[in-house]
Amino acid sequence: MNAVAAPSDTVRHDIAVLGATGSIGSSALDVIARHPQRLRATVLGAGHNVAALIELCRIHRPLHAVIADADRFAELRDGLASAGLATRAHAGADAVSELAAGDACDTVVAAIVGAAGLPSTLAAARAGKRLLLANKESLVLAGELLMAAAREGGATIVPIDSEHNAIFQCLPAATRLAAGERGAGLARIILTASGGPFRGRSRASLEEVSVEEAVKHPKWSMGPKISVDSATLMNKGLEVIEAHHLFSLPGERIDVLVHPQSLVHSMVEFIDGSTLAQLGLPDMRTALAVGLGWPERLESGVSGLDLLAQGGRLDFEKPDLEAFPCLQLAYDALAAGGTAPAVLNAANEVAVAAFLERRIGFLSIPALVAETLAALPAIPANSLEALQDIDQRARRHAVQGLAAHRLPA
Ligand code: NAD
Ligand code: MG
Repeated sequence: MNAVAAPSDTVRHDIAVLGATGSIGSSALDVIARHPQRLRATVLGAGHNVAALIELCRIHRPLHAVIADADRFAELRDGLASAGLATRAHAGADAVSELAAGDACDTVVAAIVGAAGLPSTLAAARAGKRLLLANKESLVLAGELLMAAAREGGATIVPIDSEHNAIFQCLPAATRLAAGERGAGLARIILTASGGPFRGRSRASLEEVSVEEAVKHPKWSMGPKISVDSATLMNKGLEVIEAHHLFSLPGERIDVLVHPQSLVHSMVEFIDGSTLAQLGLPDMRTALAVGLGWPERLESGVSGLDLLAQGGRLDFEKPDLEAFPCLQLAYDALAAGGTAPAVLNAANEVAVAAFLERRIGFLSIPALVAETLAALPAIPANSLEALQDIDQRARRHAVQGLAAHRLPA
């Protein structure tokens, strides 16, 4: 019998981690640091937090560090110099995109939160990078353009969302992405959802929930925006749209099942009646290791799954669309097409930010998204400019709508 092949030690990757100071960024750096012979973080990027970025540079010694906030260039440059680091400082959103497309990396971990991640994600796709795509908002906002850019640029996309990464692992190699289009014998995909912190609660009981309760996810440790999205089930809605673009399937063939244990990360049903699932502990380092090692497997720091130790059962239930209307809003936006998903995403970003700032209540999030979708009916959109324009208009509309939902101070 042949020995089991060890991961090759000749493959080396230079990696840009954009959103390095966030939850996905730190999980990516954890996996990268486990494989110094093979993986090197050459570019680290963050939004505003210069101190946290410099601290990461101390540990990972990248060639380049970039802060999206253009006003913080001097702070970053001087901080790197006084830490005795040779890392070059850059600032501004354009610099983030230039580094994503540039020679300093062959792999980009797209882990910026929100539509702010779109330009650098697109730049990496056009430049033909290996793209570890966590920034789901860029797919929701401009999925067709992003997938086309990746095809034209020759980029390999590995989804870094536990569900889509699971589906990616379950699909046959030749048809991994855009599976529907290429006919992988796929019948449907089933995205699992933990149900979030408010699973089982009635709509009326959600009126007064606090920010602390909403961001306290039962199974995953994540950044604040996606944690709120998980509590409203908008996260699953965004993921339905994400799956539509990644796997070329219509919404009718993308189902959602609530699975409170969060051990089955998603399932793929084929036309012959087979269903394949990927299971594992809820820790994003597994998905990141799949992407960073691709097509080989890498040790991630995550233990294997002991189902008995996890309680010995896997439960499934239907999502409650009455209590969590955001999921239905996302299905409807996908069906409407054109600008609707961009409007959904923009209104949601505004509403979630206002909720996190305690300016509106939890149930105002779906209300604001629904109002914005109704006010800006879907029109066809096939250019980046048109999508960015509608993104801005939807944001303005949602910001104006906040007043009617404002909580008493
Ligand atoms: P986070 O809030 O923890 O981190 C966000 C990162 O983005 C930070 O490094 C921040 O500095 C950076 N950032 C913010 N605004 C920026 C800007 N304008 N320009 C450049 N950088 C900016 O968020 P997260 O939980 O790590 O999520 C990141 C992305 O990954 C989101 O799109 C989220 O939906 C997706 N995702 C996250 C998880 C998870 O487990 N955390 C799972 C699946 C998908
Ligand atoms: Mg997910």
